[in-house]
Amino acid sequence: MTDDRDAAVRLRAFDFLREQRQRFGDASFPRQILERGFDFEGVRVPLIGPQGIFKPAILPEVPLTITTAPPVEHRERPYDDGFDDFGFLRYRYRGITAADRDHRDNVGLRLAMQRQTPLIYLHGIVPGLYEPAWPVFIVDDHPESFTFIVAIDDQVAATAAWQVHDAAALTARRQYVTAVVRRRVHQRGFRERVLRAYQQCCAICRLRHDELLEASHILPDGHPRGEPVVPNGLALCKLHHAAFDSYIIGVTPDLEVKVRLDVLEEIDGPMLLHGLQGFQGRRIHVPRAERLKPNRDFLAERYDIFRRAS
Ligand SMILES: [Zn+2]
Repeated sequence: MTDDRDAAVRLRAFDFLREQRQRFGDASFPRQILERGFDFEGVRVPLIGPQGIFKPAILPEVPLTITTAPPVEHRERPYDDGFDDFGFLRYRYRGITAADRDHRDNVGLRLAMQRQTPLIYLHGIVPGLYEPAWPVFIVDDHPESFTFIVAIDDQVAATAAWQVHDAAALTARRQYVTAVVRRRVHQRGFRERVLRAYQQCCAICRLRHDELLEASHILPDGHPRGEPVVPNGLALCKLHHAAFDSYIIGVTPDLEVKVRLDVLEEIDGPMLLHGLQGFQGRRIHVPRAERLKPNRDFLAERYDIFRRAS
C-alpha cells in the first residue's frame, strides 16, 4: 500500500469523526460508533479494538488510534488522566517487559513518530463513552519508562497551508490544544460520572432529559477542595443548576432545599411557583451508595455562602 492510500484512510477517518461530532454535538461518542467505524473502498474500518494501540487491517504498519481506557467504576482518578506537567500526554507502551519494547504496536507508534503520521486519540470518559481528539502526533519516545509523548494538534492549523516551521511555535500551539482537550476530558468525565450516579435525573425536580442536565460543583472549580468527584457534585437540570450557582436555591447539609427569601415571597407566573418556590423545604434525591452521596462538609460550606448571600 502506498503512503497516499494510508493518508487517504486517515483523512477519511478524520471526516468520519467530524460527521459524528456534528451528530452528537457536545456529547462524547458511544463505543459502538467507534467499533463500527466507517467504510473505505468497500472495507469496514473500525476505530477501536481490544487493545489501546489500534491498527485496522487496512493499514499496513502505522496504527490509526490510541485509546486511554475509561476509569474503573468505583475508583475515581480525576487527576491521573495521562497528561503530564509539560502540556502533553504520556502514553504507555503495550506491555511491560523489556522484550515488549519491540512489540509491533510499539514499533508502529515509533514509525508514526519518525514519519510524523497523524493519529487519533480516544480518551475513555466512563465505560462506553469516549472523547476523541485528532490529529495527534507522537513527539517523543522514552523507552526507559515505556512511554510515548503525544501532542494533540489543531485540526485546521495542522493542515499544510498553516504549517508552522518554527519548532517553538509548533510546540506552543500543540501544548495549548492539548490543554484544551485535557480540560474538556475533565469536564466530560465529571459530568458523566455525576449524571450516572444520579441515574440521569435532576436532584431537585427529577427531570430526566439528558440534554437538559448538568453536573454542578458543590464547592466550585478553583476552590482547594473543589475537585471534580461525585461527592462534590449534584446532577441538576439547567434551571436548578443556574439557580444553585446564583444562590437563588441552597441545599442544607441535611439535603433540604431552601429558596432565597425574596424569591420565595415574589409573585410571578407558574414557572416561579412550580419551578422554584414549590421545592422549598423538600429533600433532594441523592444516590443510594454512601461513596456517591454529596459530602456533608462541602454542602455545609456551600450553604453558608448561600445564607450569607440571602
Ligand atoms: Zn431540576
